[in-house]
Amino acid sequence: MSRPAKGIPEPRRRHLGLAAAAGSDTARGTRHGDGRDAFALAWADAVVGTSYVSMSRTEVEEHLRGLTDRLAEALFTEPFTADAARQVGAAMVGAHFTGTETLNRTIALVADELPLRLGLDRSTPWRLSALQGALAAGYAEALRQRTLDEQEAISQAVFVARDQAEQALRVSEARFRAVFAEAAIGMGIADMDGNILDANASLLDMFGYSLEELTRRNVRDFMHAEDAASVWRLYDELVSGQRDHFRVEKRFERSDGEVIWTHLTASLIRDDEGRPTYQVAMIEDVTDRHLLQDRLRYQALHDPLTGLPNRALFLERLAEAFDSAAEEDRIGLCYLDLDGFKVINDSLGHDVGDQLLVAVGQRLDACVSAPGRLVARIGGDEFIILMERSSSTRDVVAIADHVLAALEAPIRVREHELSISASIGLVERSIVGTTPADVMRDADITLYWAKADGKAKWALFDPERNAREVARFTLSTTMPAAIERGEFYLDYQPLVRLCDGQVVGAEALVRWHHPEFGLLAPDRFIGLAEETGQIVPLGRWVLRQACHQARLWQDRFGSRAPFISVNLAVRQSRDPGLVADVAKILADTGVEATRLQLELTESAIMGTADEPLDALRALSAMGVRIAIDDFGTGYSNLAYLRHLPVHELKIAGSFVEGLRASASDGSHVVDARIVGTLVSLAHALGLGVTAEGVETADQARRLDDIGCDSGQGWYYARPGPPERIDHILSDVR
Ligand code: C2E
Ligand code: CA
Ligand code: CA
Repeated sequence: MSRPAKGIPEPRRRHLGLAAAAGSDTARGTRHGDGRDAFALAWADAVVGTSYVSMSRTEVEEHLRGLTDRLAEALFTEPFTADAARQVGAAMVGAHFTGTETLNRTIALVADELPLRLGLDRSTPWRLSALQGALAAGYAEALRQRTLDEQEAISQAVFVARDQAEQALRVSEARFRAVFAEAAIGMGIADMDGNILDANASLLDMFGYSLEELTRRNVRDFMHAEDAASVWRLYDELVSGQRDHFRVEKRFERSDGEVIWTHLTASLIRDDEGRPTYQVAMIEDVTDRHLLQDRLRYQALHDPLTGLPNRALFLERLAEAFDSAAEEDRIGLCYLDLDGFKVINDSLGHDVGDQLLVAVGQRLDACVSAPGRLVARIGGDEFIILMERSSSTRDVVAIADHVLAALEAPIRVREHELSISASIGLVERSIVGTTPADVMRDADITLYWAKADGKAKWALFDPERNAREVARFTLSTTMPAAIERGEFYLDYQPLVRLCDGQVVGAEALVRWHHPEFGLLAPDRFIGLAEETGQIVPLGRWVLRQACHQARLWQDRFGSRAPFISVNLAVRQSRDPGLVADVAKILADTGVEATRLQLELTESAIMGTADEPLDALRALSAMGVRIAIDDFGTGYSNLAYLRHLPVHELKIAGSFVEGLRASASDGSHVVDARIVGTLVSLAHALGLGVTAEGVETADQARRLDDIGCDSGQGWYYARPGPPERIDHILSDVR
């Protein structure tokens, strides 16, 4: 019947057996004690690993040894009772020997090993059976009880946990209420229909309502007429559940009608199923900050002196006008600059100037009160009127007239009665195809035109005039580089002695071979060069080039070489460096001064200033010939010529034109007499006479008859390259 329990290594059992045999000496006697140790050991071997117990192997053996004693007592106690076995079963459960195999193995072991180990005879099998039954019953009952206990413990734990959670909720709710109540930020709760349910003290304070008043109202009652459209679009998205929160800057009206500015954060609260249930608003009063910002913005966008919008605001509004304009919209600008403001400012002081500007600003403001119109001060004495959605050019012209009239009455500043006027540049056009920068630039150009036209005038932008000026401007800015690049060249036109047709001189005529515009005649750029001052370097270049050519002719033809005649612009004749320039060029090119003739118009010579005359006298003294170009088209004060250093008169082509033989009305006879008188007067003054614009042989003959010295014109030769003069001179020889 005895069999070693499985899984326990042999030496260990022996060792444990030896140890038990040596150490156990209980009150129940050595004989019984040895057997009980062995049984406890076998029991331990059988059940170990069948249950998860928190005991070490030694502790298991000790525990089972105790239970073995109690089983033994039950077996031997008279009268027999199996109660102790029931307690042993319960004790096993108590020690967590609850694995499914544990009970089975224990029952088997009690039957197989216990009688043997305790020295029982085979006459007591019924006691064993009773013992087994009681043990199993005690075990089962204990196990059931333990399960119940565990269930109870779990439900208890759940209960405790739930209780704790609820408490935590209550704590957080309390915390929330405290925050809600105490918060400096205004908070309000509403249902999804916008009915206000609750609001904290800060919000009530901010809005000036009692909680009762507020909860009678709906969120939508707080729409403000000037709310940005986006505010209520965001709100609709919130209450329809499309978004969970939004944050905007919004104004509200307090119960007392005062407007407050706020930062509003609105959020949605959803229930466990995710359905939107409440909306919460957090509202921060930022009115002070807003007012400050408004103030700063106002200061940044207004002129402190006149209080009018400044350039920045004007440009902002102009850009907005373009952004918001419809296709068919037009726009108008009235750009104003006071005439002679600087004089007033400089002579009467800045204080008076400032007061004057303030008064002008007020008058302008009064002129344009209509909506969509803005008066701005955009510079020292410059104002601008913006007319959004102007109806026609007539509109801006009317405004300009109105403004000029408004400024007519003198302005009183302290003891001064100040008369002031303005020049106005007007631009009015369809918004399509133009930009804010375009209209500003064009208004600027037009104001310049108005200024040039004289005081108290308006000018209207003219695209054609502008195109011409743009071209002129382009030419003037590229001129210096064009000289460098050698884009200019000279044509020469012979001056012919009438009595024998001999070429005695050649006029140098400048041309510009422009890379973009092609060949440009002098009419296109000489006037411009005079305005910009470019004529001085250009004229110097012409003179040098012409003298260089004269030198070539001088070398080639000697005494028969033609003198060179060079045009001198008014501006050049007044250039202080003129005499030195001429002297240097003559020296550099090695041309005799007597071979150079300078052509000046009457106005250049008859001007009031003395300096040009001094220069001409100096040049004349050097031996340079001075001719009056286009004689007869200017002052025509022949008597005055006596006092001038002049050697030659070039009679303008218009006189010569009348000498055509074809004229049947006899007018040529009159013209011939005029020219005749002119020639004799000139000769009386010791001057030579050259006729310009000689186109026919007839004219040439008549001029010769009249006594004219020389002729120039297509009849002899058109202006051309210098080689043509070479040919003529060579042929004649
Ligand atoms: P201008 O000094 O009176 O020069 C004569 C102009 O009359 C030239 O025009 C010439 O081509 C033109 N002409 C010559 N013969 C006839 C003719 O038989 N009939 C007609 N109808 N016209 C004739 P261009 O070359 O166009 O020069 C125009 C003006 O430009 C010149 O008038 C002169 O005032 C100015 N200019 C030309 N070159 C220079 C220069 O180098 N410096 C300066 N300051 N002005 C120049
Ligand atoms: Ca000329
Ligand atoms: Ca001329």
